[in-house]
Amino acid sequence: MSENDRNKQDYLEQINEYLSRIDGINEYIIVMEGFPIYWGKDIDQSRAEELSALATDVINSTSFLREGEEEYMIVTLETSKGLFSVSRIGDLMVLLKGDAEIIRKALENIRLFINERGLKCPWCNNDLSIKPIKCPSGKHVLPFGLYYCPYCHTKIEYIKCPYCNKPVSPHGNPIVFKRTKETIVTTTLFGIITALMLFIGLILSKVSILGGSISVLSATILGILTYMVSRKKSPVELTRREQNIEGRNRS
Ligand SMILES: [Zn+2]
Ligand SMILES: [Zn+2]
Repeated sequence: MSENDRNKQDYLEQINEYLSRIDGINEYIIVMEGFPIYWGKDIDQSRAEELSALATDVINSTSFLREGEEEYMIVTLETSKGLFSVSRIGDLMVLLKGDAEIIRKALENIRLFINERGLKCPWCNNDLSIKPIKCPSGKHVLPFGLYYCPYCHTKIEYIKCPYCNKPVSPHGNPIVFKRTKETIVTTTLFGIITALMLFIGLILSKVSILGGSISVLSATILGILTYMVSRKKSPVELTRREQNIEGRNRS
């Protein structure tokens, strides 16, 4: 086995491992030079062979790829055994059956991984393209790059890089935690109200001790709440331009 073959084998194993873990993929076949190398979930060998032969025919008869263009496409293959998406990336072919959105994302990620210019962690530069992620509820395993979980509909604001544990957005941009404009405006406003209530309380206490005390107490509670809210930071995705600015500020 040459070095190149070993690398290829390692690639295929990683793709197999990836597809076996993703929710929403019911069947998959990894085809190399016309032969099924890996297959999984609800599929047996004879079916894998039959489908890979069929998919090879379909791909070969599809001629919309012009020379010099990237060898990547997703075609939909309708068979008596259901609807499949097939993608060819070089001499590799991947057949998937399951949720359309998941399949498209998984195929895109596999392409990025193969081309080695995939989704890199912006903090540590490790390849994240075929790292399965978990949705915020922790129940669903998904391909990287989705903005919400299609199963429990929770928003995916960021994931933690499995290598460096830092937050990364579904676009692959770094996430920083900041106080939002809304938080700043709201807390400033409540700060002013707190000060006013305190002021009124002090004036009132000259007339009525009870009224003054209630007012001062309310102001104190409001003040504590405002302080707590003002500490809240929200995840913010940095775009490439902002990353440059942040980098310049840091240095
Ligand atoms: Zn979920
Ligand atoms: Zn990282």
